[in-house]
Amino acid sequence: MIAIDGPSGTGKSTVSRRVAAALHAGYLDTGAMYRIVALEVLRAGLDPADQPAVADLLPRLDFDSPTDPEDQRQVSAGVDVTQEIRSQAVTFAVTPVSANPAVRSWLLDRQRRLARSGRMVVEGRDIGTVIVPEAALKIYLTADEGERARRRHRQNRAAGTTDAGDVGSVALDLARRDRMDSSRVHAPLQAAADAVLVDSSGLQIDETVTRVLELAAE
Ligand code: C5P
Repeated sequence: MIAIDGPSGTGKSTVSRRVAAALHAGYLDTGAMYRIVALEVLRAGLDPADQPAVADLLPRLDFDSPTDPEDQRQVSAGVDVTQEIRSQAVTFAVTPVSANPAVRSWLLDRQRRLARSGRMVVEGRDIGTVIVPEAALKIYLTADEGERARRRHRQNRAAGTTDAGDVGSVALDLARRDRMDSSRVHAPLQAAADAVLVDSSGLQIDETVTRVLELAAE
């Protein structure tokens, strides 16, 4: 099992998916799970910061999480939400939703069960620290802020997410999310004590994948 944590825009998802495919392992995107919860909160017309109301919604949610690195279609209540969970509205709502302890503990069981269901690459913010601290390899992926914003902006354009703004507004949004993810009380974003730090600044995605595969082979 490989745990890959780190802030947004480091290339974490692409790297994790490619590492999983190269190792013929499964891949779990835990951020997508938080995004689905945030989308359903918005659809239900709830305030994402209203913790009791969001907690009440949880038993009514109905989604499975894909573990095939080649097929990451996300479906909630029978509807394909793969694109919609990357929208600006969801990206905004997901921060308070993921700071809600009821949401975290509700997702924890699912994430652990899936993470332990076979050979897996699991990606998120608290994988090495909380979800599977027993992972054989823990990576903490970083990159400098400017590069992260440029990458995320390119990614948004490629994904057809047209409402995320220019590089400057993407940079502000990344900084906001990092600040909130790192300062929340429950499972804040931080590197596990035994994580290997990989700085992807100046590296191509392929080079970062190779570096992680080298670490996995050690
Ligand atoms: O990785 P992604 O940007 O899709 O994650 C969306 C949000 O979900 C993050 O900004 C963070 O607030 C939250 N998250 C989390 N714990 C995880 C994965 C994601 O709190 N393991």
